[in-house]
Amino acid sequence: MRWTPQRERALELLLRAGGPVKAYDLVATFQPGGQTAPPTVYRALDALVELGLAHRIASRNAYVACHRHDGEAHAASFLFCDCCDAVEEFEAPVGEVMAAIKARGGFQLRAMTLEAHGRCSRCQD
Ligand SMILES: [Zn+2]
Ligand SMILES: [Zn+2]
Repeated sequence: MRWTPQRERALELLLRAGGPVKAYDLVATFQPGGQTAPPTVYRALDALVELGLAHRIASRNAYVACHRHDGEAHAASFLFCDCCDAVEEFEAPVGEVMAAIKARGGFQLRAMTLEAHGRCSRCQD
């Protein structure tokens, strides 16, 4: 996959946000003082996901930069606080699930996202 200025910009915005960003918010800030066609932004974001640099959170139509920097393929696992909307990526031992999907056959796994909902430590009191 080729590295492009669009991908660079999309990653920069995700890293700066420090958390999940809605796709349409990225479209708005993608090119300061200019306009970017939404498909251009979506393509850049999807490329980042393919490259393992970002994850897509389908339930929120949002993207988030991956906190692992080794570039190794992994399932994205997130803890969602339903109280303050905080999102944290964590390492879930989902290797067994991925292996089970592989063993089942007839399905080529591309991406997997685990979403856990609850309350973060700050919201428990
Ligand atoms: Zn990740
Ligand atoms: Zn919270």
